[in-house]
Amino acid sequence: MKDDFANAEESLDPKDWEEIRDLGRKMVDEMIEHLRTVRERPVWRPLPEATATRLREPLPRNPSTASGVYEAFKRDILPYPTGNIHPRFWGWVMGNGTVTGMFSDMLAAGINLNQGGLAHAGSLVESEVISWCKEMLGFPTTGSGLLVSGGSMANLIGLAVARNARAGFDVRTEGLCGSPGGIRYYASSEVHSSVQKAVELLGLGCKALRLAPVTAEYTIDLPRLREMIHEDREHGLLPLCVIGCAGTVNTGATDPLDALADLCVEERIWFHVDGAFGALAALSPGLRHITKGMERADSLAFDMHKWMYLPYAVGCTLVRDAEVHRRAFALTPDYLEHTTRGIGGSEVWFSDYGIELSRGFRALKVWMALKEYGVETFGRLIQQNVEQARYLEKLVRATPELQLLAPVPLNIVCFRYAGTLSDEQAIDALNKELLLRLHEGGVAAPSYTVLHGKYALRVANTNHRSRKEDFEVLIREILRLGRVLEAWPATSASP
Ligand SMILES: *Cc1c(COP(=O)(O)O)cnc(C)c1O
Repeated sequence: MKDDFANAEESLDPKDWEEIRDLGRKMVDEMIEHLRTVRERPVWRPLPEATATRLREPLPRNPSTASGVYEAFKRDILPYPTGNIHPRFWGWVMGNGTVTGMFSDMLAAGINLNQGGLAHAGSLVESEVISWCKEMLGFPTTGSGLLVSGGSMANLIGLAVARNARAGFDVRTEGLCGSPGGIRYYASSEVHSSVQKAVELLGLGCKALRLAPVTAEYTIDLPRLREMIHEDREHGLLPLCVIGCAGTVNTGATDPLDALADLCVEERIWFHVDGAFGALAALSPGLRHITKGMERADSLAFDMHKWMYLPYAVGCTLVRDAEVHRRAFALTPDYLEHTTRGIGGSEVWFSDYGIELSRGFRALKVWMALKEYGVETFGRLIQQNVEQARYLEKLVRATPELQLLAPVPLNIVCFRYAGTLSDEQAIDALNKELLLRLHEGGVAAPSYTVLHGKYALRVANTNHRSRKEDFEVLIREILRLGRVLEAWPATSASP
């Protein structure tokens, strides 16, 4: 037999293992250096036109070298990040990643496990991580869980289980055509947009999500919520689920979760908690009282890529009743039959608890981080972020040109520059321009929101690299820009 055939067979493995080993070492070295020196670079910078052009090249048809591709990464991608790994990034709600989290992702990609089911160590690791999450957040050990891509997916899973468990008919067989009356979900007007997306995706339509007003503390108006539930019942609708917020995205407010749990028991309604970042406050003994009642939820959604600082993308849903969770998703065709021995012999098939069949090994970075740091370290860092937010609040209150726009119950501070201005429109315009200049100057990166019609600079601190003096830098820069803009309003030519 001729050898030509064997020689002609291709694989994606390197032809020269020593060369790839050198390249890998260089990547590790340079990424570690990149993280070590992150503080020395601007938080963010705009993408140059030449880079943007290079990132629109046609489909590559022929190979180049791995080292050449890495050089393109360093030239066109590495210098233009979101900024969230920087110590002065406090926009939206973003984690910063960790050095060993980067390694975890490399190891996970290296062994490339499929976490859909099957008997391998990764299944046990994910089960163990879910058990640890239950313990961390005070959830019953009999509950089930699933690691997902983030809070949006975690909310979707929880709200889907709720729908199927409480609709009163077999949603999986009948679809929503089987519904005798309209299903209703409830949350406060501060609930995250991912909840509305989930309700829409569940086929209920966004009208099915009724939003109760909030108090001056941005927490749900409980008496009004109760009235809404009763009104809907009288109109023949089915109040099915209440979503409580542990840490709202605008101001970090937490609904009275214990009282919501009581209400849900009385009214026989599913209780879901969106604790994307706020749930993790429970890791700090000094903050745990804030989330009290969260552990009574029927389903709980939270993120590890926000306030556990891990690299994207990892979140989690916990469900109190494991069987109800399984019934919402399990589907076992012949080719996925769960065996008792061999590779198909896994005790738990994660594909029975969510939408995805093939799933990545995101559990590894959570497992490694909890083992490396221990949960108490996370509790201390979370506490530190809250203390830094309180420090920023103090700085804002002590600065006459600045106005605090919301209470600071957790790690989010909303404020604005007003200076000597009194016209609301002028203040809004100034702060919008001020924020853009902050971003473009690369010194610090808060984000924005609107509270009672007022445009707010919003600092959401889930940053394990921030130090107290970073918030002083922020205030100094805001005052500098504010004074410049007050003298030369944004609408006229820039100074
Ligand atoms: C970020 C966030 C979400 C969505 O989570 P992702 O991980 O971004 O999908 C949901 N709820 C709240 C309160 C959040 O802050």
